[in-house]
Amino acid sequence: MGKFNSENIKTVGVFTSGGDAPGMNAAIRAVVRAALTKSYSVKGYVGGYQGILEGDSLDLERRSVANIIQRGGTILKSKRCLDFHKPEVRERAAKQIKKDNVDGLICIGGDGSFRGAQALWNEHQIPTVGMPGTIDNDIAGTDSTIGFDTAVNTALEAIDRIRDTAASHNRLFIVEVMGRDSGFIATTVGVAGGAEEIFIPENPTTLDKVVETIKAGVESGKTSSILVTAEGQKPGRAYDLAEGIRKRSGFEAKVCILGHIQRGGRPTASDRLLASRMGTAAVHYLSEGTCNVMTALQNNSVVPIDLDTCLNQKKAVLKELIQLTPILSR
Ligand code: ADP
Repeated sequence: MGKFNSENIKTVGVFTSGGDAPGMNAAIRAVVRAALTKSYSVKGYVGGYQGILEGDSLDLERRSVANIIQRGGTILKSKRCLDFHKPEVRERAAKQIKKDNVDGLICIGGDGSFRGAQALWNEHQIPTVGMPGTIDNDIAGTDSTIGFDTAVNTALEAIDRIRDTAASHNRLFIVEVMGRDSGFIATTVGVAGGAEEIFIPENPTTLDKVVETIKAGVESGKTSSILVTAEGQKPGRAYDLAEGIRKRSGFEAKVCILGHIQRGGRPTASDRLLASRMGTAAVHYLSEGTCNVMTALQNNSVVPIDLDTCLNQKKAVLKELIQLTPILSR
């Protein structure tokens, strides 16, 4: 957690970075309106760290963020900027931020984006606050991230539809959801969608065990099954799983990869609320002279947590959720 003199804040900067997530617009709106309420001006950088480097910014007024709370994506665009890993590039960014008279910076993004924000504070004393905006929910210290609930609900709707057809045709389906390094979406969607098996990077299984589960299901009278898999799990991506199951058991699995449809769409009420609460809190922390923190949801309260601590931890998928599937879906 960093401390700085906030008495002379005149302008707050805000940007979105990394993968876009539904609710980022609601987050921008909250930051802008909370800051204007405190009589700060607001600059929105367009295109993440690349936009900062290029000095590409917009002056944001109350009306600039009208009618966006319900829209997916981000009006400030989001880019990846690999150069930001280089200290000399961050120095250029810090100079630009100072030139723009931005006294505090709010970064809406994932853990990669937060590492950039952390470096701006540590190396150049630019006060930064992070807001967790990612569909993956893989940020330690916060119960949820902005965009996760929407992505889960989008995937769930797809699974419910697939279940209709699976049940009508006695079929086995493998549905692949997003999550290269984490199984939060897969686990949540799998439990909520009644999946027979969930494959996640954090809880590797073997094809032999999966085949056993499917066979046991058939013997107990199941006529259709849905397996949910995260992109990044072992023993492989959805098509490899289907092929492995076919070779071992003769069962033909249909594959459905949900892909990018999970990123877009109208944010759920839960994500809009989280974004609104976190955006207001982020501005409040800056106004109090607190920085190098992330807005976190803990036990239904929004609290500041130290960025250094949160970036050093790995968030674990709830064991309790992982244990539910074998009990509830067999
Ligand atoms: P996310 O924020 O969703 O985790 P990325 O990991 O792609 O997404 O990070 C977004 C951007 O944040 C990167 O393109 C880069 O500009 C910046 N960034 C990521 N990691 C670092 C780092 N270790 N140091 C400085 N900047 C970083």
